[in-house]
Amino acid sequence: MDPGPIEDALVRIVGRAHALDAPDHRAGYEVDWTGQFRGQARMVVRPASTAEASACVAACARRGVPLVAQGGNTGLVGGSVPDGTGDAVVLSTRRLTDIGTVDQPGAQITVGAGVTLQGLNEHLRPHRLELGIDLAARGSATVGGMAATNAGGIHVIKHGSMRRRISGIEAVLGDGAVVSHLAGLDKDNTGYDLSSLLCGSEGTLGVITAVRLRLVPMAVERVTALTAWAGMRPMIEGLAQLRRALPALEAAEYMVRPGVELVLDRYQLSDPFPAPYPAYLLIEVGAEHDPTSEFATAIAALEGVRDVAVALDGQARERLWALRELHTEALSAAGPPRKYDVTVPPVSIPDFLDQVVAELVAGTTCHHFGHLADGNVHLNVLGVGDRPDAELDEIDGRVLGLVARHGGSISAEHGIGRAKRRWLGLSRSAAEISAFRAIKTGLDPAGIMNPGVLLPDLG
Ligand SMILES: Cc1cc2nc3c(=O)[nH]c(=O)nc-3n(C[C@H](O)[C@H](O)[C@H](O)COP(=O)(O)OP(=O)(O)OC[C@H]3O[C@@H](n4cnc5c(N)ncnc54)[C@H](O)[C@@H]3O)c2cc1C
Repeated sequence: MDPGPIEDALVRIVGRAHALDAPDHRAGYEVDWTGQFRGQARMVVRPASTAEASACVAACARRGVPLVAQGGNTGLVGGSVPDGTGDAVVLSTRRLTDIGTVDQPGAQITVGAGVTLQGLNEHLRPHRLELGIDLAARGSATVGGMAATNAGGIHVIKHGSMRRRISGIEAVLGDGAVVSHLAGLDKDNTGYDLSSLLCGSEGTLGVITAVRLRLVPMAVERVTALTAWAGMRPMIEGLAQLRRALPALEAAEYMVRPGVELVLDRYQLSDPFPAPYPAYLLIEVGAEHDPTSEFATAIAALEGVRDVAVALDGQARERLWALRELHTEALSAAGPPRKYDVTVPPVSIPDFLDQVVAELVAGTTCHHFGHLADGNVHLNVLGVGDRPDAELDEIDGRVLGLVARHGGSISAEHGIGRAKRRWLGLSRSAAEISAFRAIKTGLDPAGIMNPGVLLPDLG
């Protein structure tokens, strides 16, 4: 029997007010944060519960209609927006905002997928707990999107990325079935870990509707300093020293002069140092008790550091962090940049960067900054915006090929999305990709969940 138009079915499930089909109502859901990925949705639906989300997915599966899950739409690889065909339904999770009670003895909480990172941490503050993950898009990025991308951020050095912080997930699979494993048991050896599988699946296996999260004690005391270096190599040696001296080291973010200058100029900020330096490492220690004395001792013992600016109050801390966190926005304004979020072993970063610059074509500028302890480099190539697609593909292949030759990963924390799927084979073997396809077919038999994302085309 003909199930009837998908649009009518979706309106019946979520109500007229939450089934958006007018172009101006859909517009904000059809373009990503970078502005580089644009598409067209058949309709945007905003379910208010797991049951509604399940009914939406089942209705799409029955009709073979593609579905794109979207949280805060801050992803940087084009996975959160539909393609240009106008076939796909966007399912926004922003109304899934239930917050459960804080399990104090277990240090866990269950929250709806649409809760933002900032909203979660504000809720946790009176309980003196936090998620242990932080990133500059905190005001918009949702817990569901962070799970779906296995988000990293600035505290991975201390608390790991999202997969380590998740103890259970509830999700709607590609046929509409709901899997819910939210007891949060640390000891639970009962078969496949679907939560871990859904973490990092980028909306290709199901829609995550709720997440059980492991929390960490809130770092009430934080000490922050910007250190200046003669180059990347001495800075990496300095980081090794800092890691030994400061077990509570929470962030080690690097920048280089051209990026810092871009941020200083664009936002009219003042340089924390009287002179420019080639490289900078922003370090932060977070603890329940004042870590100032051990921090000062570690900094004083640092070899090769040229200058240090310590933040003595909250405003000074924000000023130092602004230098790092405004990089993404400043580069977008100067761009559009070609973005590569990659990992290489920290010791290999200087050689890798030298070789990347040598590989790039004339007329381009390569900016880079990142999470030094994780070996996570955010490369942003400016000056390629108007090149033909074939040339851009060739540049991607050269940069990502170099990452693979250094034993790195072509996606450190943003995922594969649409941007990198043809290069997945550089980081994953043919056998792994074939296992991925088998999992995809098993959990999404109609192939409706975010087609065109993560898995490369066959052939
Ligand atoms: C300024 C800035 C700084 C950033 N810094 C970092 C950083 O330091 N570390 C880092 O890891 N990322 C960073 N990001 C990228 C981004 O914030 C993360 O990828 C984040 O996890 C995306 O969350 P979101 O809710 O916006 O997801 P979206 O952008 O909406 O979606 C991202 C992907 O997840 C899927 N998805 C979303 N919600 C769900 C769901 N409920 N169920 C199933 N699939 C879903 C989408 O289909 C898409 O494939 C940054 C982004 C910006 C703009």
